Amino acid sequence: MVVLLTMASHAGCWHAPASSAPVVIKRAQTHMGTLVTITAVAQSEDVAQAAITAGFREIHRLEELLSTWIPSSELSRVNAAAGRGAVKVSPETLTILRRSIEIAGLTDGGFNIAIGPAVDAWNVTDGSRIPGAAELSQLRSLVDLSLLRLDEQAGTAYLARPGMKIDVGGIGKGFAADLAAAVMQSAGATAGVVALSGDIKTFGRLPDGSRFPFGIKHPRKEGVLLARVDLQDEVISTAGDYERYFERAGIRYHHILDPRTLEPARGCQSVTVIARDGTLADGLDTGIFVLGPERGMELVERLPDVEAVIVDSEGKILVSSGLKDRLQLEE
Ligand code: ADP
Ligand code: MG
Repeated sequence: MVVLLTMASHAGCWHAPASSAPVVIKRAQTHMGTLVTITAVAQSEDVAQAAITAGFREIHRLEELLSTWIPSSELSRVNAAAGRGAVKVSPETLTILRRSIEIAGLTDGGFNIAIGPAVDAWNVTDGSRIPGAAELSQLRSLVDLSLLRLDEQAGTAYLARPGMKIDVGGIGKGFAADLAAAVMQSAGATAGVVALSGDIKTFGRLPDGSRFPFGIKHPRKEGVLLARVDLQDEVISTAGDYERYFERAGIRYHHILDPRTLEPARGCQSVTVIARDGTLADGLDTGIFVLGPERGMELVERLPDVEAVIVDSEGKILVSSGLKDRLQLEE
């Protein structure tokens, strides 16, 4: 998958430090079907390397719990038991499911992890298939989040209708970024960046005292930045219609589906959310994409510590009030 946000060029600031100065080390691996880049700032190279290794290991651990591509994952087992029984899951799985239900509430059902059967029907990632209206309408009763039952005491999750399928693709990378950043801090990193493609978590500052610089990509102009912003102890997360899509007869079909129509959501080209919490930011970018620019921005203005840049379907750029002074628009 294409990287949605790029670290703006920062030559000169990340050079090899003097002996007593903190070091900055960056490594990349593939996880969750995407390129994951982890940057650590620490007092020594050993500590920075150990923090990066711990971060990757945490992401790998979460992928094994949550991936629907791995048949033995906890979520795959919950899905396989749909309509049959509750499945015992780890606290992490229970947490991401609970947070997903919360964000569904915030976005008036725009964010809905019960979308799985519709995602499979479109299969946008692998082909260019347009499911018919009859096929989609048969799936509608399966995309019902009220049929996901969590028992916090027993530590179980249950899908109450056969054929249901949970897909945390719209929130899992933000969740993983939060947890990976936490283990990096425990391992001694004083600052860092965990970037899972377009979901990027930062903590602390660079050794020279500056914040981490980011560029938000233009949704329609390849290689062009829409805006720049510097972050500290924040997450930036983008959902867009320009990374995984196909076109047919001039219509763009992409991977963010409106749970009401089960068709690609039409209100936005991209939604970038900046928040403290990666799970919230990732869930919200997808949910706001579905809500559309007006209702989406209303929600952002209501929520504390949440800012957003929304590019609507016409290409108009909306910036939340708390971000206006911090965001440098490129055009
Ligand atoms: P990515 O960073 O992979 O583009 P997004 O945060 O944009 O992730 O989420 C897109 C993914 O979320 C889709 O590939 C699909 O798995 C899932 N998804 C699609 N529509 C919805 C929706 N309305 N609610 C929740 N998840 C969705
Ligand atoms: Mg998302």
